[in-house]
Amino acid sequence: MVNRRYVLKGGMAGVLTLWASPLLAGQQTTGGVRKLTNTISVLDGGGSNVVAFSSAEGIVLVDTGAPNNGDRVMADLKGLGGNAKVHTVFNTHYHLAQTGNNDVFAAAGAKIVAHDRTRQWMSVDHWLPDQDRFEKARPKAAWPTDVFFNTGSQKVGGEQIDYGYLLVAHTSGDIYVYFRNANLLVVGDVASPVNDPELDWITGGWIGGRVSSMDVLLKIGNDQTRVVPGTGPVMTWAEFKAERELMELVRQRLFKQIRQGDGPQDMVDGGVLKDLPRTWKDPYKFLYAAARGLWGNHNKLDPDVV
Ligand SMILES: [Zn+2]
Repeated sequence: MVNRRYVLKGGMAGVLTLWASPLLAGQQTTGGVRKLTNTISVLDGGGSNVVAFSSAEGIVLVDTGAPNNGDRVMADLKGLGGNAKVHTVFNTHYHLAQTGNNDVFAAAGAKIVAHDRTRQWMSVDHWLPDQDRFEKARPKAAWPTDVFFNTGSQKVGGEQIDYGYLLVAHTSGDIYVYFRNANLLVVGDVASPVNDPELDWITGGWIGGRVSSMDVLLKIGNDQTRVVPGTGPVMTWAEFKAERELMELVRQRLFKQIRQGDGPQDMVDGGVLKDLPRTWKDPYKFLYAAARGLWGNHNKLDPDVV
């Protein structure tokens, strides 16, 4: 049982500390809008990040924010000036915080690009184990209209947008969207600088997939690349690399414990998340999901892997 007061206090302290850093790094913030370049801004989608790329052709969005934030996101887009019509939306994955206003933009004529598995999870009822209930399928108006399996590329308004699959890093349908000319890599919840990293094990997300997907991302960017996570401040390349190192250390510790037949409470007791450069708000919740993911990947746990 987690002590709620401790979690809230710890959580707030973490948020305040981390949100202070982008201001120091020179990101201009107006209201909920963080302007990263002349053409790219990060908007507040109701606690999650929405990335907007503007050109004369209109706007490309990455993610649409949490439910009931569509009007606010629309207003922020108009505030950017220029052609505010959204013609393309990318969804980094199926979670509500990223797809909550898909229907608003689809109704206004946007096509919605996502991995095939993202459409799959949005189009069927699915079990939410931590809430012990079924989540209803999303209305068809919110579903992705253009799905892909591996990678793709588009040239829009002087920008090259490359996108591709990140295998079971957080869900089974995670993608990155890389604005090549701006050198900005949008990764959804595959990076998580503020919230505890989440492994959506019921869709297939697991710690091994997370680390290897972060390695895929490390091959796409360079020292100057900025990384936009699903929630929280824009990360430097060094910060993203540090999160990858942290997750790799956690993976090694988890592999060791799962080979001993340990469950999530044994992992808490064994100190899997101790002496790390960050603290977890809810260690048991993370380790429970991690253990479920590891049990689903026993075939990848040969003793000589590490
Ligand atoms: Zn998510």
